[in-house]
Amino acid sequence: MQKIEHIGIAVKDIEKGNAIYAKLLGVEPYKMEEVTSENVLTSFFKVGENKIELLASTTDDGTIAKYIDKRGEGIHHIAFAVEDIHAEMKRLRNEGFRLLNEHPKKGADNKLICFVHPKDANGVLVELCQEIPKQGY
Ligand code: ZN
Repeated sequence: MQKIEHIGIAVKDIEKGNAIYAKLLGVEPYKMEEVTSENVLTSFFKVGENKIELLASTTDDGTIAKYIDKRGEGIHHIAFAVEDIHAEMKRLRNEGFRLLNEHPKKGADNKLICFVHPKDANGVLVELCQEIPKQGY
């Protein structure tokens, strides 16, 4: 793994979350993106080399809505940048980690992503993410 790519924070209301984190970090989010396959609305902040991702559910029964019902708002996952997500998934499977995704899926912010089962990582939901190469050159 290369580095922590971002930290994901579950929020009830993306606009309120944006306002709080803009105040806290002193920058506005550089992008907002809906991931319809996940029923989630995301926004991203850049702080130096690091990113914070806010996640809010777009439906009452989405993953993030369920998470907040159970555990409240807060840190939801830690994402690590990887160079080759397929190789990393294979490596982790061989180490005995359960992955929540059979294949990498398209996430927000131009990434291929995969989640590691939190029960296999001391209760932390770990996301692997690989930048999708830009097309056309
Ligand atoms: Zn994420």
